[in-house]
This record gives sequence, structure tokens and C-alpha cells, in this order.
Amino acid sequence: MKTSRQTSSYISDVMNQVIRRNPAEPEFHQAVKEVLESLDPVMERHPKYREARILERLTEPERVLMFRVPWQDDGGHIQVNRGFRIQFSSALGPYKGGLRFHPTVYLGILKFLGFEQVFKNSLTTLAMGGGKGGSDFDPKGRSDMEVMRFCQSFMTELFRHIGADTDVPAGDIGVGGREIGFLYGQYKRLRNEFTGVLTGKGVGWGGSLMRPEATGYGATYFAQEMLASRGETLAGKVCTVSGSGNVAQYTVEKITQLGGKCVTLSDSNGTIYDPAGIDAEKLAFVMELKNVKRGRIKEYADKFRGAQYRDGERPWSVKCDCAFPSATQNEILGEDAKTLVRNGCQLVSEGANMPSEPDGVRVFVDNRLLYGPGKAANAGGVAVSGLEMSQNSMRLAWSREEVDGRLQRIMKDIHTAVYAASEEYGEPGNLVMGANIAGFVKVADAMLDQGLV
Ligand code: NDP
Repeated sequence: MKTSRQTSSYISDVMNQVIRRNPAEPEFHQAVKEVLESLDPVMERHPKYREARILERLTEPERVLMFRVPWQDDGGHIQVNRGFRIQFSSALGPYKGGLRFHPTVYLGILKFLGFEQVFKNSLTTLAMGGGKGGSDFDPKGRSDMEVMRFCQSFMTELFRHIGADTDVPAGDIGVGGREIGFLYGQYKRLRNEFTGVLTGKGVGWGGSLMRPEATGYGATYFAQEMLASRGETLAGKVCTVSGSGNVAQYTVEKITQLGGKCVTLSDSNGTIYDPAGIDAEKLAFVMELKNVKRGRIKEYADKFRGAQYRDGERPWSVKCDCAFPSATQNEILGEDAKTLVRNGCQLVSEGANMPSEPDGVRVFVDNRLLYGPGKAANAGGVAVSGLEMSQNSMRLAWSREEVDGRLQRIMKDIHTAVYAASEEYGEPGNLVMGANIAGFVKVADAMLDQGLV
């Protein structure tokens, strides 16, 4: 994020056009604005991108699919949801990105996520384009059979638009192992083929070891890299984590293994604060609670003495050395960021996508925090999805150690590339700028090579 210079009139023109053509989609505008502001110096230095209208092309998805998803609930009533798939960019490979099932899902959310995904996937060094999809379906409170019927209906339309070499969806909020299983089963039935069309599959039928862990572990590895640049480690650091789903759980697991102490988790109702730390045994309780019983995080405070439940609050007022936002977009407001800085927080590694509002990002960058934006810090998830695709193509399964080793190398390489780009463009350590530039250049150069498509 550029805080000192004025944005050029070219960038402002592109931004205004994006706002005009995509009305009432504030999350998409926010994601595009951050990237465009970072790219201003690149446009100045390399007029070829401007001449080829790369920004105008990149901000327009290659294809947007929107469809009806009718299904029947357990009471025999007919329900109708809306399904989406945004195939944003195939410059670097098949469209790749998760599916989100959450009542807040609409075009603007998925376009922001798909847009971010293009740059993130570019950073992983693997051959993947960017996409995102999902539905306004809310799995909360639904039986397994209802979720299955919904997934089957969703896939009955989606299957004709995806494929192992075309578009490979994965999970996101509300889409975990259970949903991927139901979606895959229906795809297989309709296509009559067993291919690597989804990632995050069960390990017994084509999934990669370490895929569930990958995003949380990756965000922690990225934090380690940032700390190493100042000669520090995670050992002994007090960490706040938001969310209590897939990303949050494995972030806590890895931080704890590396000697840090995690003291919070949250969900959309509130936050638990456990000053003693969430150790392996307590984390096992959280995993059972969230993944099997599908309960609320409040129950943690009922179970463990010394833990408090803070209804309606987010974790950011708790004093910490490092923060790991791992729930959803815009969960750190400008004020929260100031509170974190005031309390001595020195690192933020974003497991979630765009969890910090622009005001929050500005506070982190201006105060020179070690700040890893989502498109770099949480790229471990899609990276291991890419490794799952490779294993499926080879019809081989790598060991845990092999996948974890590759994940660690990828996170290290992302940090190196992002840091180098921030240095090259005169703001060393501004990883927001570095991630946007490093991600962009690879995609833009591929677009130049591939002609006007
Ligand atoms: P899960 O569905 O497993 O967990 C989501 C968690 O966030 C839940 O605790 C949920 O609480 C909470 N949450 C969701 N929406 C809100 C909201 N509006 N306000 C407050 N809390 C909320 O999802 P994941 O862990 O997979 O995803 C978390 C974040 O990480 C998302 O931003 C996602 O895009 C990002 N991400 C995920 C990847 C993956 O591999 N899974 C890869 C890269 C990024 P509740 O139960 O109350 O809804």
C-alpha cells in the first residue's frame, strides 16, 4: 500500500472504471484498489503493460457463471439458493480457487476472492490460474443429508464448467472435507470419470496428505520467515488467532509446535481468551467441537477453567506479540490495528483473505510491523492443492514429510520473492506492495506472451 505518493491519473481512471462497471461490490473495489495502488510504480517503469491494457483486462474476469441451486430440506420443503463460479484468469494454468458456502456470499465477495487468488496462485510458483466460487447456502444447522442434497444439486450445474485441466475448485469457508466428498461423488457420477477435479479430497481417494493443515501451517511458516528477517523466532511469543475453523485450528497447532503460545480463538458469535494457552489437548477438543459436533466456540470456556468467553468481541484487544487473523474479510478495523500496535504486537500473518480493512493495513505498514498480507501468507493452502493436482496427474501419493518439505520451501520462496519486489520498488519490507508486484508481473508477462485474449 502506497501511503506517501499520489496515485497516478491512469490508475485512478482504471479504478473509476472498475467501480462504474461493478456497482455495489465494495469488497471487489477494495481488493482491486489495493493492488492497483501498489502497481503504480510498475506501470511507470514498464509502459508495455499499460499499452497492452493489462490492468483493464485483469480486472475483468474471463468468465462469470451464476446459476440456480434447487434442493429439498429434511422437512420436504423446497429451497432455492444461488451458485457461482468466477473463472478469473487462466494466464498461468487452469482456474484454481475455493468454493465458499456462507449466507453473505454474492458476486462482489467472490470477485474479490477470485481477483486475489490470481496473484496468490502466481506467487506459489506453481502453474495455476485464479478462480473462486460458492453459494449463499448456509450449512450451519443443516443435517448431513441436507448438505449432501445441496452439494449434489450445486454440482449438477457446476460439473459442465470445470475439469482437471480447466478449473479445479477446493474448499473455503463452509466447505471442508465433508462437502468436497459430496461434490466429488456427484461429479464422478455425472462425468463417469475419476480425475483430480477437486482438491482437498479424502486421503484414501486422491487427496494429498497435509492439505487440511496447509493454510494454517503455511501462514505460520510465513510468520517464521518474517521473524527471521529480524533475527527472531516464534518461540515464547504470545499469539492471538481469530476463527476456529480449518485455518485457525492448524495455525494454533503449528505455532504451539514451534514454541509459541496461542491464547484466543473466535467464531461469528464471540471470542475465547485462555491465558494459559491452547495446548494440544485443548486443540483436540476444539477440533472435535467444530469439525464433528459442529458446536460454538463458547463451549471451550465452559470446558476449561481459566478461559473466558467474550460475547460479540473479536480477539484484537488481547495483548499479544503476533496476530493471526484466520476467520474472514474485514475483521481487523483501523481501530483494532491501532490497539494491536499500542499493545506491542510486532507481527500480523493473515491466514484469512483480506482480513484487514484498508485503514488497518495502513496502520501496520506505517508502523513497520512484520505484516504478511493474505495473498502471500495464506498461499500455502492453494500451494498444497497444486501439489495434490501434481500427485493426481502422476497417480502417486507423496509422504507427509515430502509435502511438508515442499510447503516450507514454497513459503520461504514466496517470502524471498515478495521481499525482493518490495526492495526493487523502493519500499523494502512493505510486503503488501511486494506481494502485489511479484504476483502481478508473472501474470502480466504471460498475458503479453499469449496475445490479446
Ligand atoms: P471455516 O469455515 O473452516 O472456518 C471459518 C471460521 O471463521 C469459523 O470459525 C467461522 O465462525 C468464522 N467466520 C466466518 N465468517 C465469519 C464472520 N462473518 N464473522 C466472524 N467470524 C466468521 O473456513 P476456513 O478456516 O477454511 O477459512 C477461514 C479464512 O481463511 C477465510 O477467509 C478463507 O477465505 C481463508 N482461506 C482458507 C483457505 C483454506 O485452505 N481453507 C485457504 C486460504 C485462505 P462461524 O462458525 O461462526 O461461522
